[in-house]
Amino acid sequence: MITRREALKFTAAAAAVAATLPATLSLQAQPTAAPAPTGPFTLPPLPYPTDALEPHLDARTMEIHHGKHHAAYVNNLNKALADFPELAKKSIDELIQDQSTLPDKIRTAVRNNGGGHFNHSLFWQMMKPGGGGQPEGELAKAIDATFGSYPAFKDKFTEAATKVFGSGWAWLALSGKTLKIESFPNQDAPIAAGLKPILGLDVWEHAYYLKYQNRRPEYIAAWFNVVNWDFASDRFAKLQG
Ligand code: MN
Repeated sequence: MITRREALKFTAAAAAVAATLPATLSLQAQPTAAPAPTGPFTLPPLPYPTDALEPHLDARTMEIHHGKHHAAYVNNLNKALADFPELAKKSIDELIQDQSTLPDKIRTAVRNNGGGHFNHSLFWQMMKPGGGGQPEGELAKAIDATFGSYPAFKDKFTEAATKVFGSGWAWLALSGKTLKIESFPNQDAPIAAGLKPILGLDVWEHAYYLKYQNRRPEYIAAWFNVVNWDFASDRFAKLQG
Protein backbone atom coordinates (compact mmCIF):
# COMPACT_ATOMS: atom_id res chain seq x y z
CA MET A 1 0.00 0.00 0.00
CA ILE A 2 1.27 3.47 -0.84
CA THR A 3 -0.01 6.08 1.55
CA ARG A 4 -1.21 9.45 0.29
CA ARG A 5 1.78 11.10 2.01
CA GLU A 6 4.22 8.78 0.20
CA ALA A 7 2.47 9.35 -3.13
CA LEU A 8 2.76 13.11 -2.72
CA LYS A 9 6.43 12.75 -1.84
CA PHE A 10 6.99 10.64 -4.94
CA THR A 11 5.23 13.18 -7.19
CA ALA A 12 7.27 15.99 -5.72
CA ALA A 13 10.48 14.02 -6.28
CA ALA A 14 9.58 13.29 -9.90
CA ALA A 15 8.86 16.96 -10.50
CA ALA A 16 12.19 17.90 -8.96
CA VAL A 17 14.01 15.47 -11.29
CA ALA A 18 12.17 16.84 -14.33
CA ALA A 19 13.09 20.38 -13.34
CA THR A 20 16.78 19.52 -13.23
CA LEU A 21 16.87 17.76 -16.64
CA PRO A 22 19.35 19.37 -19.01
CA ALA A 23 17.68 21.96 -21.24
CA THR A 24 18.72 20.11 -24.41
CA LEU A 25 16.90 16.96 -23.30
CA SER A 26 13.63 18.72 -22.53
CA LEU A 27 13.90 20.63 -25.85
CA GLN A 28 14.19 17.37 -27.75
CA ALA A 29 10.88 16.29 -26.26
CA GLN A 30 9.10 19.31 -27.82
CA PRO A 31 7.49 19.09 -31.27
CA THR A 32 9.81 20.86 -33.71
CA ALA A 33 7.33 22.09 -36.36
CA ALA A 34 5.18 25.13 -35.60
CA PRO A 35 1.48 24.46 -36.14
CA ALA A 36 0.10 25.72 -39.47
CA PRO A 37 -1.63 29.09 -39.16
CA THR A 38 -5.42 28.77 -39.00
CA GLY A 39 -6.10 32.03 -40.83
CA PRO A 40 -6.74 34.51 -42.25
CA PHE A 41 -8.26 32.25 -44.89
CA THR A 42 -10.38 29.19 -44.17
CA LEU A 43 -11.66 26.31 -46.26
CA PRO A 44 -15.29 27.03 -47.16
CA PRO A 45 -17.56 24.02 -46.59
CA LEU A 46 -18.86 22.19 -49.65
CA PRO A 47 -22.40 23.45 -50.33
CA TYR A 48 -23.59 19.80 -50.65
CA PRO A 49 -22.42 16.36 -49.45
CA THR A 50 -19.40 14.82 -51.20
CA ASP A 51 -21.59 12.21 -52.91
CA ALA A 52 -24.19 14.73 -54.13
CA LEU A 53 -22.76 14.98 -57.63
CA GLU A 54 -22.65 11.21 -58.22
CA PRO A 55 -22.46 9.53 -60.67
CA HIS A 56 -20.91 12.39 -62.67
CA LEU A 57 -18.35 13.40 -60.05
CA ASP A 58 -17.62 10.61 -57.57
CA ALA A 59 -17.64 11.08 -53.80
CA ARG A 60 -14.02 10.02 -53.25
CA THR A 61 -12.75 12.56 -55.78
CA MET A 62 -14.87 15.31 -54.21
CA GLU A 63 -13.66 14.35 -50.73
CA ILE A 64 -9.98 14.54 -51.71
CA HIS A 65 -10.39 17.49 -54.06
CA HIS A 66 -12.10 19.65 -51.45
CA GLY A 67 -10.70 18.23 -48.22
CA LYS A 68 -7.08 17.81 -49.33
CA HIS A 69 -6.31 19.85 -52.46
CA HIS A 70 -8.37 22.95 -51.72
CA ALA A 71 -7.40 22.71 -48.03
CA ALA A 72 -3.72 22.65 -49.02
CA TYR A 73 -4.11 25.85 -51.08
CA VAL A 74 -5.71 27.55 -48.06
CA ASN A 75 -3.01 26.31 -45.65
CA ASN A 76 -0.16 27.28 -47.95
CA LEU A 77 -1.67 30.70 -48.59
CA ASN A 78 -1.93 31.28 -44.82
CA LYS A 79 1.67 30.15 -44.36
CA ALA A 80 2.84 32.56 -47.08
CA LEU A 81 1.02 35.44 -45.38
CA ALA A 82 2.17 34.59 -41.85
CA ASP A 83 4.93 37.23 -41.87
CA PHE A 84 2.84 39.86 -43.68
CA PRO A 85 0.00 40.98 -41.35
CA GLU A 86 -0.94 43.91 -43.61
CA LEU A 87 -1.46 41.60 -46.60
CA ALA A 88 -3.35 39.12 -44.43
CA LYS A 89 -6.07 41.77 -43.97
CA LYS A 90 -6.83 41.84 -47.71
CA SER A 91 -9.57 39.87 -49.43
CA ILE A 92 -8.58 37.00 -51.68
CA ASP A 93 -9.66 39.06 -54.72
CA GLU A 94 -7.47 41.99 -53.69
CA LEU A 95 -4.50 39.71 -53.04
CA ILE A 96 -4.45 38.04 -56.44
CA GLN A 97 -5.75 40.92 -58.56
CA ASP A 98 -2.62 43.03 -58.25
CA GLN A 99 0.28 40.66 -57.80
CA SER A 100 2.90 43.22 -58.85
CA THR A 101 2.63 44.84 -55.40
CA LEU A 102 3.31 41.57 -53.55
CA PRO A 103 6.73 41.02 -51.94
CA ASP A 104 9.00 38.92 -54.22
CA LYS A 105 9.36 36.32 -51.48
CA ILE A 106 5.68 35.32 -51.53
CA ARG A 107 4.47 36.37 -54.99
CA THR A 108 4.57 32.89 -56.51
CA ALA A 109 3.04 31.29 -53.41
CA VAL A 110 0.15 33.77 -53.45
CA ARG A 111 -0.33 33.38 -57.21
CA ASN A 112 -0.55 29.58 -56.95
CA ASN A 113 -2.25 29.07 -53.59
CA GLY A 114 -4.32 32.26 -53.59
CA GLY A 115 -5.39 31.45 -57.13
CA GLY A 116 -6.18 27.89 -56.07
CA HIS A 117 -8.29 29.13 -53.16
CA PHE A 118 -10.14 31.67 -55.34
CA ASN A 119 -10.81 29.22 -58.18
CA HIS A 120 -11.97 26.32 -56.01
CA SER A 121 -14.17 28.50 -53.80
CA LEU A 122 -16.11 29.40 -56.95
CA PHE A 123 -15.92 25.91 -58.45
CA TRP A 124 -17.94 24.19 -55.67
CA GLN A 125 -20.72 26.76 -56.07
CA MET A 126 -20.72 26.42 -59.85
CA MET A 127 -22.00 22.86 -59.52
CA LYS A 128 -25.07 21.40 -57.83
CA PRO A 129 -26.90 18.09 -57.57
CA GLY A 130 -29.57 17.94 -60.27
CA GLY A 131 -27.81 20.68 -62.21
CA GLY A 132 -27.04 20.76 -65.90
CA GLY A 133 -29.50 21.68 -68.62
CA GLN A 134 -29.15 25.08 -70.19
CA PRO A 135 -28.90 28.63 -68.90
CA GLU A 136 -32.00 30.82 -69.00
CA GLY A 137 -32.76 34.51 -69.13
CA GLU A 138 -30.14 37.17 -69.77
CA LEU A 139 -27.19 34.78 -69.64
CA ALA A 140 -28.82 32.50 -72.22
CA LYS A 141 -29.41 35.51 -74.48
CA ALA A 142 -25.81 36.69 -74.09
CA ILE A 143 -24.47 33.19 -74.84
CA ASP A 144 -26.63 32.99 -77.98
CA ALA A 145 -25.55 36.46 -79.07
CA THR A 146 -21.85 35.76 -78.49
CA PHE A 147 -21.43 32.14 -79.56
CA GLY A 148 -24.44 31.65 -81.88
CA SER A 149 -26.26 29.07 -79.73
CA TYR A 150 -25.95 27.08 -76.53
CA PRO A 151 -24.61 23.98 -78.37
CA ALA A 152 -22.03 26.17 -80.12
CA PHE A 153 -20.97 27.59 -76.74
CA LYS A 154 -20.78 24.08 -75.26
CA ASP A 155 -18.58 22.89 -78.14
CA LYS A 156 -16.25 25.85 -77.81
CA PHE A 157 -15.99 25.54 -74.02
CA THR A 158 -15.39 21.79 -74.30
CA GLU A 159 -12.65 22.39 -76.84
CA ALA A 160 -10.95 24.97 -74.59
CA ALA A 161 -11.12 22.63 -71.56
CA THR A 162 -9.88 19.64 -73.58
CA LYS A 163 -6.93 21.57 -75.00
CA VAL A 164 -5.53 22.84 -71.69
CA PHE A 165 -2.05 21.31 -71.73
CA GLY A 166 -1.29 19.81 -68.34
CA SER A 167 -3.06 21.42 -65.40
CA GLY A 168 -5.39 24.38 -65.64
CA TRP A 169 -8.91 25.69 -65.99
CA ALA A 170 -11.37 26.72 -68.69
CA TRP A 171 -13.62 29.70 -67.99
CA LEU A 172 -16.63 31.49 -69.32
CA ALA A 173 -15.95 35.04 -68.23
CA LEU A 174 -16.80 38.66 -68.83
CA SER A 175 -14.24 40.92 -70.41
CA GLY A 176 -15.89 44.26 -69.79
CA LYS A 177 -19.44 43.48 -70.91
CA THR A 178 -18.43 40.82 -73.43
CA LEU A 179 -18.57 37.09 -72.79
CA LYS A 180 -15.52 35.08 -73.71
CA ILE A 181 -14.07 31.61 -73.22
CA GLU A 182 -10.53 31.55 -71.94
CA SER A 183 -8.26 28.94 -70.38
CA PHE A 184 -5.49 29.51 -67.85
CA PRO A 185 -2.64 27.25 -66.74
CA ASN A 186 -2.11 26.01 -63.18
CA GLN A 187 -4.13 28.06 -60.69
CA ASP A 188 -3.88 31.38 -62.50
CA ALA A 189 -7.18 33.09 -61.72
CA PRO A 190 -9.25 34.93 -64.35
CA ILE A 191 -9.41 38.06 -62.17
CA ALA A 192 -5.60 38.32 -62.33
CA ALA A 193 -6.06 38.77 -66.09
CA GLY A 194 -8.85 41.33 -65.68
CA LEU A 195 -11.65 38.87 -66.47
CA LYS A 196 -14.78 38.41 -64.34
CA PRO A 197 -15.49 34.67 -64.06
CA ILE A 198 -19.02 33.37 -64.69
CA LEU A 199 -18.40 29.61 -64.92
CA GLY A 200 -15.20 27.58 -64.62
CA LEU A 201 -14.05 24.02 -65.04
CA ASP A 202 -11.06 22.53 -63.23
CA VAL A 203 -9.22 20.18 -65.60
CA TRP A 204 -6.34 19.29 -63.26
CA GLU A 205 -6.03 15.50 -63.15
CA HIS A 206 -6.85 15.63 -59.43
CA ALA A 207 -10.36 16.71 -60.46
CA TYR A 208 -11.13 13.55 -62.42
CA TYR A 209 -8.37 10.94 -62.42
CA LEU A 210 -9.88 8.48 -59.88
CA LYS A 211 -13.02 7.98 -61.98
CA TYR A 212 -11.97 8.95 -65.51
CA GLN A 213 -8.19 8.34 -65.53
CA ASN A 214 -6.86 9.82 -68.80
CA ARG A 215 -10.33 10.35 -70.30
CA ARG A 216 -10.65 14.10 -69.73
CA PRO A 217 -13.31 14.54 -72.47
CA GLU A 218 -15.61 12.12 -70.58
CA TYR A 219 -15.15 14.13 -67.40
CA ILE A 220 -15.94 17.38 -69.24
CA ALA A 221 -19.10 15.89 -70.76
CA ALA A 222 -20.19 14.54 -67.34
CA TRP A 223 -19.50 17.88 -65.64
CA PHE A 224 -22.09 19.61 -67.83
CA ASN A 225 -24.70 17.49 -65.99
CA VAL A 226 -23.93 19.18 -62.68
CA VAL A 227 -23.43 22.80 -63.81
CA ASN A 228 -25.25 25.27 -61.56
CA TRP A 229 -26.64 27.63 -64.19
CA ASP A 230 -28.61 29.58 -61.56
CA PHE A 231 -25.35 30.52 -59.86
CA ALA A 232 -23.74 31.43 -63.19
CA SER A 233 -26.77 33.55 -64.16
CA ASP A 234 -26.69 35.41 -60.82
CA ARG A 235 -22.99 36.16 -61.28
CA PHE A 236 -23.61 37.33 -64.83
CA ALA A 237 -26.35 39.71 -63.64
CA LYS A 238 -24.18 41.10 -60.83
CA LEU A 239 -20.89 41.34 -62.70
CA GLN A 240 -22.35 42.89 -65.79
CA GLY A 241 -23.38 45.79 -63.57
MN1 MN B 1 -8.68 21.39 -58.31
